Amino acid sequence: METYQQFINGALVDSHSSEWIEIENPYTTQVIARAPRGDETDADRAVEAAKASQAAWAKQAPASRAAYLKKFAALIRENRERLARVLASEQAKILPLAQVEIDVTAEYFDYYAGWARIYEGEIINSDDPRENILLFQKPIGVVAGICPWNFPFFVMARKVAPALLTGCSIVLKPSSNTPATTFEFARLVAGLDLPPGVLNFVSGGGATLGTALVRHPDVDMVSLTGSVEAGQEIMRNAVDKVMKTSLELGGKAPAIIFPDADIDLAVKGVTDSRLIYSGQVCNCCERVYVHDAIYDEFVGKLKASFEASAYGDPFADPAPVYSSQIDAAQLEKISQMVTRAVDAGAEVLTGGKQADVGTGYFYQPTLITGAAQDSEIVQQEVFGPVLPVLRWSDYDQVIADANGVEYGLTSSVFTTTINTVMQAVKDLNFGETYVNREHFEGIQGFHAGWRKSGVGGADGKHGLYEYLQSQVVYIRY
Ligand code: NAD
Repeated sequence: METYQQFINGALVDSHSSEWIEIENPYTTQVIARAPRGDETDADRAVEAAKASQAAWAKQAPASRAAYLKKFAALIRENRERLARVLASEQAKILPLAQVEIDVTAEYFDYYAGWARIYEGEIINSDDPRENILLFQKPIGVVAGICPWNFPFFVMARKVAPALLTGCSIVLKPSSNTPATTFEFARLVAGLDLPPGVLNFVSGGGATLGTALVRHPDVDMVSLTGSVEAGQEIMRNAVDKVMKTSLELGGKAPAIIFPDADIDLAVKGVTDSRLIYSGQVCNCCERVYVHDAIYDEFVGKLKASFEASAYGDPFADPAPVYSSQIDAAQLEKISQMVTRAVDAGAEVLTGGKQADVGTGYFYQPTLITGAAQDSEIVQQEVFGPVLPVLRWSDYDQVIADANGVEYGLTSSVFTTTINTVMQAVKDLNFGETYVNREHFEGIQGFHAGWRKSGVGGADGKHGLYEYLQSQVVYIRY
């Protein structure tokens, strides 16, 4: 069994704590590795290292910082198959999808390395003819990056790449469910000549080590990807320091199916967007609104598509559509939400039960009909393979219903009419809207939620500038 160490100040070191996180393979339910259950002292050590290294790191040219990101990408590619297997083992992601996550993470480091010679300040016209106004972009300083369990490797890069490229240093805490891939990466990085302290990985609980990072006086910014509750707690802890927080939180994405939609395309898009990684994706389609005129045909085909979606061993070849939920608690949460939906008057069209495949935490692909717009199953994130289907006939009402949740991460529309696309895109209040395709963002876009789905965002140019702060200089001559 693997035993991981913290990665602090450029070295793999023992934790100050003698407690351990046991990393469970959710499919086999066996413990496959252990990582330190780090404490406040680990947080202090990592932040001290990050603080001590940051000024010199910021003085390097962006292109020389980018050279390290390219080395990260190369290391990931050299170890791509092993990393994918570790990832699939620690979180029951089907192996082909785990491989995509590893490969996209390498691409992500290369992508942000490419920004070294592109990100820039501004020259602003002065009111005084004998003055130049220059706006410089400077790194924010020490970043605490806090990760979820659903895309642990990719989200690690989503924080590390822009932080290091802009001249910040970073202390990153993986989720206690899934620290293994991050520490495998730490072992690879430990062999590089990266300046000690600019990149640190420490595992531990959110309420303990996580809170210590957020409250640490030398941490200048927190970037969290996780639940709304964690985001709220981090915001509260950031208040005294008036610290920048970048929060990517939950979602309750609607898909709206118009009467002129390509039904087969829409069925595939919605199925893919709901069942990928067992429904445990923030931008997953969490509710679908189907026009009355095509309701029966669409729902019939969606039911067939859900029933044909296999689940099982993440390493099986050919791969199933999805595998186990992350843990027993998540499975129980999904079960209870479906039970409460039925108690409130909804019906299960297909699925609706935990599935016994002999091992793991499985829930059947499930469609729920007849749920009320204001019911829990339509309003709150399920994070599982369960989809409420709602019928609509009035455009203004469906837009109001789609917008009418406390989340605002992603949304989608399926229609073949350009005017409908343009109108719906204008009327939907979400950080992302997908047209005639599954919900999944590109690394050059900007993944940023409205309402309780977050503050700030990641990816692309705008994600990079999250890690920068401006200094405006007035030069009179
Ligand atoms: P979580 O909030 O339980 O945990 C996320 C991380 O925050 C973990 O590392 C945890 O230890 C840490 N944490 C928790 N409380 C903390 C605190 N008070 N201070 C500091 N750190 C704390 O979330 P999860 O269960 O790991 O992930 C699932 C959630 O993440 C879902 O709601 C999902 O929608 C969301 N998510 C959002 C995005 C996005 O881009 N918007 C992407 C992936 C996941």
